Amino acid sequence: MELSEMRITYMQGVGEKRAALFESELKIRTQEDLLYCFPYRYIDRTKVYKIGEIDTNLPYIQIRARIRDMHITGIGKAQRLVATAYDNTGEMELVWFQGLKYMQNQQFRPDVDFLIFGQPSIFNRRVSIVHPEISLYEQSADNLVGFQAIYPSTEKLKKAFITSKLMTKLVTTVFQNMNGMRIDETLPAWLLQRFSLPLRHEAIYNMHLPQSMELLERARYRMKFEELFYIQLHILQQKFRRKRYFKGHNFKTVGDYFNTFYNSYLPFPLTNAQKRVIKEIREDCRTGRQMNRLLQGDVGSGKTVVALLCMLIALDNNFQACLMAPTEILATQHYESLKEMVAPLNINIALLTGSTKAKERKVIHETLANGVLQILIGTHALIEESVVFDNVGLAIIDEQHRFGVAQRSKLWRKNVIPPHVLVMTATPIPRTLAMTVYGDLDVSVIDELPPGRKPIRTLHSYDTARDRVFEFIEEELKKGRQAYIVFPMIYESERVDMQNLEQGFERTEAFFMPRGYTIGMVHGKMKPADKDEEMRKFVNHETDILVATTVIEVGVNVPNASIMVIEGSERFGLSQLHQLRGRVGRGADQSFCILMSSYKLSNDSRKRIETMTSTTDGFEIAEADMRLRGPGDIEGTRQSGLVCDLKVASLAKDGAILNQASQVASEILNDDPDLEKDENHIFNYRLKRVFKVFDSWHHIS
Ligand code: ADP
Ligand code: MG
Repeated sequence: MELSEMRITYMQGVGEKRAALFESELKIRTQEDLLYCFPYRYIDRTKVYKIGEIDTNLPYIQIRARIRDMHITGIGKAQRLVATAYDNTGEMELVWFQGLKYMQNQQFRPDVDFLIFGQPSIFNRRVSIVHPEISLYEQSADNLVGFQAIYPSTEKLKKAFITSKLMTKLVTTVFQNMNGMRIDETLPAWLLQRFSLPLRHEAIYNMHLPQSMELLERARYRMKFEELFYIQLHILQQKFRRKRYFKGHNFKTVGDYFNTFYNSYLPFPLTNAQKRVIKEIREDCRTGRQMNRLLQGDVGSGKTVVALLCMLIALDNNFQACLMAPTEILATQHYESLKEMVAPLNINIALLTGSTKAKERKVIHETLANGVLQILIGTHALIEESVVFDNVGLAIIDEQHRFGVAQRSKLWRKNVIPPHVLVMTATPIPRTLAMTVYGDLDVSVIDELPPGRKPIRTLHSYDTARDRVFEFIEEELKKGRQAYIVFPMIYESERVDMQNLEQGFERTEAFFMPRGYTIGMVHGKMKPADKDEEMRKFVNHETDILVATTVIEVGVNVPNASIMVIEGSERFGLSQLHQLRGRVGRGADQSFCILMSSYKLSNDSRKRIETMTSTTDGFEIAEADMRLRGPGDIEGTRQSGLVCDLKVASLAKDGAILNQASQVASEILNDDPDLEKDENHIFNYRLKRVFKVFDSWHHIS
């Protein structure tokens, strides 16, 4: 029988009740599942410390000591059992809060050595171990070899005494029962050899029962490599197949629209990064294959003009182009700035949103279908069934993380041969994450800001210093600038947040109105029309200060705004703070971002604020974000489901392994995209096993 068919229920030490817990808490049903539930930490049990050399920062220690003076102290809930452990270098305290009677009855002999194991901490200003494991030193030889694996656990598991020790015992049994059979290998010999990877069987064995630090390291490397390799193989296979089999429109020429605009009407010289990216896109659109590309560029890096130039290439080849944005405000802004830019070129361009009037909508539908309309800008309205293009060749999606996969895929169906797709994002994604989540896309990066931008200065201020912040804002307003004051609005605490916002608005009014400044407010609870009206006023400088929630986070462009105050900044995530900050620093003036917070800050909040005040580099911030929160939480990646499922590898730490894995996967697919060759069957077989669950969300961008 296969391990995958052997339930753990009947193993010694399990039984029905525990088996149910194994399943509900750890998703372990079979012996195979058990083998794939890896320890997350190991304790070196070869080292026995002297009391005098204990470092309380160590996660676990063990000492050889004698025990004396065991007694109960404190009253009521504070009651505890304490004892002194000592050796010839010093003494320390052992403490129990539970099971006092039981422990007291243990009657530790005063004249023998014990092996005492646990987490060191400081208690009552003395080094201590709470709830130590204690055994006679003489009989502990078994404990002093190798590494003890620590497995994931939960309260329920602990209550049922499902401990790491039990897990180790079960795993040992599984290996014993295999009777010399080996765990199936998933990588071919040449790959193992090339990267000096241990066999899978050996690796899994050492993951659970490490025979030495070195073997453990090699085992982990192998398991990480395997995990990342198959993810890369899976996601890159889609890309290689698309490139080989999907036809695409061929943008053969660069013609009048592009050249005229480029030579005569470009409002500014392009940055080198913009030029490079346009070239990459242009190359990609004339291969005869469909382009599927992600354009990453920090806020303000100038993605819009790149989008426009690409649309002009589409027009030059007699195709239509469209640009979809996540909000009405943003779509309108795009429409207005693009319309202005292409005014001299005589191009038919229109805006389609939820609030486009029926009459106008009808004209758009007609001219779109007969090919008179060349560029369509819009919101989700753009992907409705009723919107039919004559011949769309390029679809661009701005702030793509705001759209679901399904919405994006609808754009594919807007032509018989799907249009080239360019998705743009200002949310920098760490490279490792991009490789994993968007691995099937080609990636272009604008890694350079237009010249003359002064980096935004970011300061941290406590709430108590708000008056000074207000005075500072006033200085800027006097120069004719505008300011944002942003409040957190989190679903769970919506009512209180709403109150804070309103109070904040009143406070701002009380200070600035008498000084002759006007203040507006926008938040998500307002009617869209009212919201747009408030935004419009701010854009046109009819208001000086905009008090707002994060509705302004995406894309809004008001170059005259030079101050961004973020209230309750400790409650925002890093990427959100970065997005918000990107609303200023868009003009030539020095801009400021002021992070307000209370005095009480958690470690993570403090780190986020420190990151924000020390760098404006979006990629650096994204990396920090990933380190702090883990990759599963990064915006726009949750829907993939994939990253959260990494068992051994970490996208924050294992970039080098990911590179290797990705490189090899590309080599293999380049040669054999369908993995049909005999020597590649091993991959195909494994892919089907690992990814059968994911096939339903086949990646479309
Ligand atoms: P984002 O990448 O955030 O969408 P935008 O396309 O909105 O950035 O550009 C931000 C601002 O920078 C706009 O006002 C735009 O006109 C300006 N801009 C873009 N490219 C350049 C450039 N090469 N030189 C000067 N200004 C530029
Ligand atoms: Mg933009």
